[in-house]
Amino acid sequence: MTLTLDQALKIPGHQSDGRWDLPFLSASNPKLLKTAGLAHQAVGLTLYPEVPGVSLCGFRSIGCGKSCLKSSGRGAMHSTTDCRVRRAIRFLSDPARAVEQIDNEARRWFTKISATGQEMALRLNVLSELDWSSFEAGRWFLDRWHDRINLYDYTKNPDMDRLDRWRYHLTFSRTERNWSDCLKWIDAGKPVAVVFGQALPWDYLGLPVQDATSHDFRFLARPGYLQGLIALGKGKRDRTGFVVWS
Ligand code: SF4
Repeated sequence: MTLTLDQALKIPGHQSDGRWDLPFLSASNPKLLKTAGLAHQAVGLTLYPEVPGVSLCGFRSIGCGKSCLKSSGRGAMHSTTDCRVRRAIRFLSDPARAVEQIDNEARRWFTKISATGQEMALRLNVLSELDWSSFEAGRWFLDRWHDRINLYDYTKNPDMDRLDRWRYHLTFSRTERNWSDCLKWIDAGKPVAVVFGQALPWDYLGLPVQDATSHDFRFLARPGYLQGLIALGKGKRDRTGFVVWS
């Protein structure tokens, strides 16, 4: 964390004149970049998952917290973290207005991506775990967009059905403490992602593993396969059980 709440709220453009100087949506997050040459182009909303007094990832575990990509790669740069914190604070301070801006940006991205012949895919929780079905502006946004683009995300919230009516594709993320929930998702035919420490195994606990490192589009996952990821950043040293070492 590089900004306090007080510091963030004093940033020009945030307050009374209403001008916000940062876009909410971006295609430059490393998690979203592996889309060149694919039928889809990913755009995402990257909010820092914790701002003073508020957690935006209520289902975190000790292990994922220690391995969190919020401070890996570009996130290790203070300027990148500052942007993510400022976005989160802006979003939380006026969600309806933030969603209005996100809607405007989504329309511009949609036009740009459609012109290339690709389909737009949108991740609204690149680093956070906001339930967009739980607030009015969020539901409005999902109603507007769900049948035009591919909405998708990873989640640690075990409630697997909450976004089904918007065809919002969710992949459950395994941690060191939620394997029983993973099994419920697997039984329901829904994808589960597992982070491995080394090369991906062929299978894990009797379930086949699909390489999920080449792109981010889990809605293309093979049914019945675990989605295998490789640990990055601090995860390469994880010993909490979050990262699977074979
Ligand atoms: S990995 Fe996800 S849930 Fe865990 S701390 Fe980071 S943002 Fe939160």
